[in-house]
Amino acid sequence: MNKAIIERNLPHNDNYKIISYAYVSLIDGNGTCCDNCGKLISNMVTIENQNGVQYIVGNDCANTLTFEKWKLVFEIEPAFDEGKSLRSKIIKGFKSNKFNQAYLYKTNRIILEYTDGGNSMQEINYPEITIPYIKDLLTKK
Ligand SMILES: [Zn+2]
Repeated sequence: MNKAIIERNLPHNDNYKIISYAYVSLIDGNGTCCDNCGKLISNMVTIENQNGVQYIVGNDCANTLTFEKWKLVFEIEPAFDEGKSLRSKIIKGFKSNKFNQAYLYKTNRIILEYTDGGNSMQEINYPEITIPYIKDLLTKK
């Protein structure tokens, strides 16, 4: 299947490398707009063209534009996925009354305290992304 690639703001024949990536919560009003497609984004990827000009784009646009696709697949997308799935797990647990606490332990572990008295600990592989993703859900700081 061929997906037509639409050229938006950033020229596709430039060479974009990936500089960094970050998550900002839209809840806090900190979202930004993708420099390529204009959509409001919370998963931000900073890319740089061959002239050293940097742009902030969403991960879909980063994938279309960058030649460093391996970085997206093996590093950036797993980090965003970890944040997203942990966030939805915590929200689900609170809604169904399964957990009553969620808090950080050391710098890269989350403790989920169950309403029945038990608890579980989950290691966070990408704390710099996942912690901002779940920060507003933590019950103890
Ligand atoms: Zn975009």
